[in-house]
Amino acid sequence: MKVKFMGAARTVTGSCFILETQGHRFAVDCGMHQGMGEIENRNWDSDIYEPERIDFFLITHAHIDHSGLLPLMVKRGFRGKVYTTPPTRDLLEIMLLDSAHIQETEAQWKSKKRLRRGGNRAQPLYTQEDARAVFPLFVLKKYNQPFEPFAGLRVNFQDAGHILGASVIELWLKEEGTESKIVFSGDIGRPAQLLVKDPSEIRRADALFLESTYGDRNHKDETQSLNELAEAIAFSHARREKVIIPSFAVERAQEVIYSLYLLSQDGRLPGDMPVYLDSPLAIQATEIFRRYPEYMDEPTRKILRKGEDPLSMPQLQYSQTARESMAINELEGPAVVISASGMAESGRIRHHLRHNLWREGASVVFVGFQALGTTGRKIVDGAKTVRFFNEEIVVRAKIYTINGFSAHAGQSQILDWLGHFQNRDMKIILIHGEYKAQQVLAELIRKRLGCEVTIPDYLEEMTLELGKEVRRVEFPEKAAPRIDWAFLLQDLEEKMSQLRGRKARLESREWTEQVEIRDRILDVNRDLAEIVAET
Ligand SMILES: [Zn+2]
Ligand SMILES: [Zn+2]
Repeated sequence: MKVKFMGAARTVTGSCFILETQGHRFAVDCGMHQGMGEIENRNWDSDIYEPERIDFFLITHAHIDHSGLLPLMVKRGFRGKVYTTPPTRDLLEIMLLDSAHIQETEAQWKSKKRLRRGGNRAQPLYTQEDARAVFPLFVLKKYNQPFEPFAGLRVNFQDAGHILGASVIELWLKEEGTESKIVFSGDIGRPAQLLVKDPSEIRRADALFLESTYGDRNHKDETQSLNELAEAIAFSHARREKVIIPSFAVERAQEVIYSLYLLSQDGRLPGDMPVYLDSPLAIQATEIFRRYPEYMDEPTRKILRKGEDPLSMPQLQYSQTARESMAINELEGPAVVISASGMAESGRIRHHLRHNLWREGASVVFVGFQALGTTGRKIVDGAKTVRFFNEEIVVRAKIYTINGFSAHAGQSQILDWLGHFQNRDMKIILIHGEYKAQQVLAELIRKRLGCEVTIPDYLEEMTLELGKEVRRVEFPEKAAPRIDWAFLLQDLEEKMSQLRGRKARLESREWTEQVEIRDRILDVNRDLAEIVAET
């Protein structure tokens, strides 16, 4: 079997792995690339997926970094089936539309800018119409309901304990008479996570594609996280300011509400502190969660059986419209505001941060992973100021990072989960993690379990054969285009010598013009000095 890594290879986003065997070509996940510009540009490179040649997709879960390019694939000619669980389908229907809406809005912004400069209109990556075209392709499979997309391949979804409906995917593949088992971990949940069950224990795999988001870190425990949330609330309540919680709309927002419900049961959420869920997507997602009590863990079901609703509390208010959202900023006094996006890159949260980041006494509580290059990551890393809507905002609010809410297993939890596998001759392929974290985890796995571990790169191809070593074909040129330093530096030198040749011309200019050119050259000079100092 051949695997091609279309994303989530030495990065966290863009999960998509194209598998080829015996004339069949299918993929696990279809995620969007998110983060810094260079990475996001990969989304536009849809040809390399050859969507019309993909027979079907198996989708692990509804997060956009695992599913967000489905509409693009359909737009570019994919016509096959999309297998997933019922809750994932329900969540995808709202999330893909939301993602398309973001694409459309971004394209509108870009268009305005370009048209003003006499350029062409910008096209969205995909539209809401493209997103809707995905819906009829869904084929629903519950956990532990194995199915055969083609003769020789059996597939089973198991609970990944990550978000509602998320799966670990087991594949049994028959090639030339021998059967091998391949497991895709998807995103593995944190045990004891609120709402969802613990990740299913898998006993065997010949090859395991393992996520490694927190490969180099452990989480604080959840009671500590609940205490930290209570602390942020007490801190800002005493100062009559707001607690701002950037949150992913799906799962995390519901967990935050659940946590606030627990705090209010404990008397640790002041009654005069309204809680706003300011995200239409999170509101819709909360309704979908209510449809699937059978996917919830035992503590949640116990609360439900008592006739209570852990996704609600008396002071919880939904804010649907933009006007309702803006009204929150006008409001005096303490409040908790949960809004998306989780990494503060887009959406309503940016308005709340602009209104509150500079306030001493306000708190910003990060409850999820912050990818490199995002505004959220900058704040967490201690930036003194951040930019919102072309305005530099100073950071004076108290910043909390509560990673005990993570929907990902931490390092020791990944190792515990691996401990359930009973065969140690399995090959582990680390995906969905930043390279530094992956190297740490790889070393630990080799030492503790003695398994063979590989860390593939973007667009790499790999051949997996039972009992044989993993064969890799790298695509360095395509994955990380080479920078032609020789050309760059020579070009710079040529410009310098041209400028030297024009010294007399410079001297003949008006004095004020000379001063202006001098200042521009001093700017360039300063930049160059910095680059020299850094290298
Ligand atoms: Zn996920
Ligand atoms: Zn993920």
